Amino acid sequence: MFYVKECFNNVEVTVDITEDNVFTRCPVCGEEIAVDLNALFHDWDSNLTNTALLCRDCAKEFMEVDDDGE
Ligand SMILES: [Zn+2]
Repeated sequence: MFYVKECFNNVEVTVDITEDNVFTRCPVCGEEIAVDLNALFHDWDSNLTNTALLCRDCAKEFMEVDDDGE
């Protein structure tokens, strides 16, 4: 089990990382996206530092632009 650890007002808080409590933000519009780390690391060569996820709308737009650009 992985967890995050942070101090708030000198009280150490740990929270288990699960499929329900990990989020990121779309780098294009800033929309919050729930992330299933099990699926992410199973399917891709990803890591927590360099992996960015697009929200559904921006991914759709990106794919459309990519398709038209070819
Ligand atoms: Zn977006």
